[in-house]
Amino acid sequence: MLGNRFYKVIRKNNLNLPMKIAILSEDASLYSTKRLKETGEARSHDIKVINYLRCYINIASHKHSIISLHQPLENFDAIIPRIGALRTFYGTAVVRQFEMMGVFSVNQSQAISRSRDKLRCLQILARHGIGLPVTGFAHDTEDIDGLIETVGGAPLVIKLLEGTQGIGVVLAETYQAAKSVIEAFRGLNANILVQEYIKEAKGADIRCFVVGDKVVAAMKRQGAEGEFRSNLHRGGKAEGIKLTPEERSTAVRSANAMGLKVAGVDLLRSNHGLVIMEVNSSPGLEGIEKATGVDVADKIIEFIEKNAATAKTTDRIK
Ligand code: ADP
Ligand code: GLU
Repeated sequence: MLGNRFYKVIRKNNLNLPMKIAILSEDASLYSTKRLKETGEARSHDIKVINYLRCYINIASHKHSIISLHQPLENFDAIIPRIGALRTFYGTAVVRQFEMMGVFSVNQSQAISRSRDKLRCLQILARHGIGLPVTGFAHDTEDIDGLIETVGGAPLVIKLLEGTQGIGVVLAETYQAAKSVIEAFRGLNANILVQEYIKEAKGADIRCFVVGDKVVAAMKRQGAEGEFRSNLHRGGKAEGIKLTPEERSTAVRSANAMGLKVAGVDLLRSNHGLVIMEVNSSPGLEGIEKATGVDVADKIIEFIEKNAATAKTTDRIK
């Protein structure tokens, strides 16, 4: 602990010493994990890939520690959380423990939790006056007609609140289809969002990769023929795209509103202006680096070099 502080004081003087950085990732062979590791090492840092699911946490009021493979994880300057969508609960607990130990996290645990809930995400963005698709939310409503009316009738999009990679996102073309899908989800006791369908986006969306207060790369993703979802996991294709100044600033504002320093902000071009679809806290590097040729991993490591020494670990957002 003491050693760690000493280290930080030295780096504040801009000596640019190598840092000890942990990538919290379930799988060291994933493209994003590998790229962050090799890039960090190329910049002379000591990079460890740590499977956060295998870590255990010691909670005591005087000494916080975290153990992996029987070894305490000590003297880290920074962590890069790459928490899987299905691992949010345990993953954010591990990130929080590092924060309690004074370690700089690229994204704070609280910001990661926030981003994992689509409804919370939309509520936070709305509070910041950011453009969104007209959206209704329901759990067990009797008033399905009213819900459909809220978003202007069919066609409309229905989403499972905890879905990811386009799974649990359904386009209902007619009123009848919408009604039966909503009833089916209701039967499953699921939380759902109902959203106006942005037809004019023509199955394409824009992924803006934000690091710090900049969009470092942006790509347009186009869904496969006949598919309204543009997710690369669903067979979408990607290419680099030039953003308008408004798109850039909206993407950065959205990431800021969520308290995320590294974020994938997805937006659609709609007839009523830009709308944000979601803000992702562990955006993949493969699609965006391949589509744009930008070394996104390098931007993330550079961000840590500039911020780990001086940044506060407390997330005091809104
Ligand atoms: P996930 O988090 O599972 O990726 P999204 O909400 O981002 O779910 O939806 C997946 C994709 O479906 C989006 O990237 C977009 O291409 C498309 N999509 C989602 N909502 C709408 C909508 N309201 N109108 C048009 N297309 C949409
Ligand atoms: N400001 C509140 C907090 O930090 C919550 C904001 C949010 O919804 O994430 O606990």
